Amino acid sequence: MTLTAKLKLCHNREQKTQLDQVTLAYRDALNYTSQKAFEMEKTSNAAKIQQEVYKTLRERFGLGAQMACSVPRYVGAAYKTLWTKVKQSKVARELNPKARRYKGLDNPPRFVSRTLSYQYQRDYSFKKGQQVSIMTLKGRLVLPYEGYAKHLEFIANGAEMGTAKLWYSKARKQYFLLVPLTIELSDPEPSSHKQVVGVDVGMRYLATASNTSGKTLFKSGKATLRKAERFLKARKSLQQKGTRSATRRLVMLSGRERRFIADTNSSLAVQILKTFPQAFIGVEELTHVRDRTERRSRPHSSEQQRKANRRRARWSYAELQGFLAYKAALRGSMVVKVDAHYTSQTCPRCGHCSRGNRPEKGLMFACESCGYQLHADLVGARNVGLRALLVRQDWASTGCLSCIPDVSDVETKVERLKRYSELRWSPDTSQRL
Ligand SMILES: [Zn+2]
Repeated sequence: MTLTAKLKLCHNREQKTQLDQVTLAYRDALNYTSQKAFEMEKTSNAAKIQQEVYKTLRERFGLGAQMACSVPRYVGAAYKTLWTKVKQSKVARELNPKARRYKGLDNPPRFVSRTLSYQYQRDYSFKKGQQVSIMTLKGRLVLPYEGYAKHLEFIANGAEMGTAKLWYSKARKQYFLLVPLTIELSDPEPSSHKQVVGVDVGMRYLATASNTSGKTLFKSGKATLRKAERFLKARKSLQQKGTRSATRRLVMLSGRERRFIADTNSSLAVQILKTFPQAFIGVEELTHVRDRTERRSRPHSSEQQRKANRRRARWSYAELQGFLAYKAALRGSMVVKVDAHYTSQTCPRCGHCSRGNRPEKGLMFACESCGYQLHADLVGARNVGLRALLVRQDWASTGCLSCIPDVSDVETKVERLKRYSELRWSPDTSQRL
């Protein structure tokens, strides 16, 4: 498994100047090299380009030997990608003469962002006391860094490192080192998990999680979604303005919005994993979430209901699940997807499934058949948990883990739903709540 550790470099003003110099020189070198490659019949051959530019990169741009080699490689790779697109465009135009011609190689590609590649052990290496040594134009710079505890742990334990990127955040006036780490994870087995958990996502609660012995976690979505709504409003008004400064602010705002959602999802995933350690976690297959909400919004539904539906579709639940799956693997837990069908309408006690189990679509679930009452979001989480339990049992008995196939095969789906209808929440467990 490969992940990217984002390390914040703790630099003072002089050190930042040094980083500015090297990143800007590298960018200029990229653009110079791009121009040269363009003149050499737009070649993507890195070795050829290097022969042409190496001396200039060393002398005029002041790059070290490693960097003077990595610039032509980077440019060569960029040209290669562009050539692929040119060829694809050519094929497309043979089929459809009206298709637009790809123009990416009409001019030498320009590099605008301050990004710089570092080879491990050549341009960068880790030092004792949580410090990293990186190459600049004036030799090596040793800087302390900060990052996620889990990532720091992997680095300290000597994870395999790849080619790192020095990246500049304009908004924060701050440099980061992005280091790819390759980690060996042992294959999970059914016995490696101590509990089974279901996670339901929604609007009232961004996430509701429950394990099969009744422990629950509610993460309210109120404040978060209100903030998301504010972002949306601000974005809309800037879009309507359409001036240049409005566009610039829009880009900044979009970045802030994206980071806000990512941060919320990331910390929520950690919270779930910390509450339920070493867990086998079921999440809903989300492809149906949209259908489900759309079907519910009938022409007569209130403005409020429609707004809520839009909100639900917009929050990045898929991102939350992605974080959960990825962080789970690092913490000895595991995430599987289960069908989302009827998880909110099925009674976890008697199995009765009906829309009528959700009177007024309110907060309470009330079973028409057995009278079982429970918080509606908790019903969802429990049903997802029960389905995950079924997956785990199949895994333990057959030795193979069957996830939901992407192609919806009607017959197997019907079969699965039939098995789900036989799942029951143990009444003993429920009483303890
Ligand atoms: Zn019931």
